[in-house]
Amino acid sequence: MRVLGIEGTAWAASAAVFETPDPARATDDDHVFIETDAYAPDSGGIHPREAAEHMGEAIPTVVEMAIEHAHERAGGANGDDSAPIDAVAFARGPGLGPCLRIVATAARAVAQRFDVPLVGVNHMVAHLEVGRHRSGFDSPVCLNASGANAHILGYRNGRYRVLGETMDTGVGNAIDKFTRHVGWSHPGGPKVERHARDGEYHELPYVVKGMDFSFSGIMSAAKQAVDDGVPVDDVCRGMEETIFAMLTEVAERALSLTGADELVLGGGVGQNDRLQRMLGEMCEQRGATFYAPEHRFLRDNAGMIAILGAKMYAAGDTIAIEDSRIDSNFRPDEVAVTWRGTEES
Ligand code: ATP
Repeated sequence: MRVLGIEGTAWAASAAVFETPDPARATDDDHVFIETDAYAPDSGGIHPREAAEHMGEAIPTVVEMAIEHAHERAGGANGDDSAPIDAVAFARGPGLGPCLRIVATAARAVAQRFDVPLVGVNHMVAHLEVGRHRSGFDSPVCLNASGANAHILGYRNGRYRVLGETMDTGVGNAIDKFTRHVGWSHPGGPKVERHARDGEYHELPYVVKGMDFSFSGIMSAAKQAVDDGVPVDDVCRGMEETIFAMLTEVAERALSLTGADELVLGGGVGQNDRLQRMLGEMCEQRGATFYAPEHRFLRDNAGMIAILGAKMYAAGDTIAIEDSRIDSNFRPDEVAVTWRGTEES
């Protein structure tokens, strides 16, 4: 089976081809091709209009590259009449409406061109499922630490339940707002990681309420600390230690409440080495197993859309073009999980 995935919820105009193992190729590994064109703002954070302009320019190119790749895998050539893919999956949301509309339009066009089914994927469930797929875990708790979101998910009775989430801003967005204040270019996460290595811990507000967390107070306190003359490296170190300890605490509580012994990480902030180490140590201490996917599957990417799209397609979970509207506030717990039980392990 070969599925084309298209992602474009915010900054990543991305297309991918996911192919399940083919006995004829004598390999047990599935194959994932990803082509991404990233939007990088000239100044400030992600500007929705600029992001949509970028999406409009970049999506046709990355999609054509993925189609060409699919033709090569199918043993044909671009321009062949035969469909090199079995289905087209696209990110329906959550994300920026103008970007999502471009992605959905491209997906509908490709589905019609090759006369194949369309699959509408929840971007946050894809962040989770790519980790579950690559780890081979059955029913893990998932920490999604991304730019616009932060939540802990666990599976129960046919849905991924939100066990805990941010009460205000997404975790990456909080970090990016701080780095904008300092004058660093977007995205700020990798810069905070670099500067934190040379810093001494600076205390910042630690806000966990039940299973939920809040980042806006930390962001304001971090900005204030820099304005008050605290070395920026120390503030970066304090941000990492505080925010990641909060995420680790809630992840541990979710493991404890659900009785799960597997944790997967998803989202762009998950590329942070310190966060991965804290989660890894917590899991080790409680006898759980931790899995973080490769970086290319953590940040926004169409590979995860194609992988979940393939599972949904195999379960018959496709949508008609007339029902394929986008949903910019699409929550992960709105998704009926149709593919568990039908997937090959
Ligand atoms: P979402 O998936 O919720 O739509 P998003 O579209 O912003 O979020 P992601 O690719 O998941 O996209 O995450 C991007 C975020 O990851 C940015 O806020 C960026 O600063 C952050 N980030 C990237 N690398 C690192 C890192 N090494 N450490 C911390 N944060 C990082």
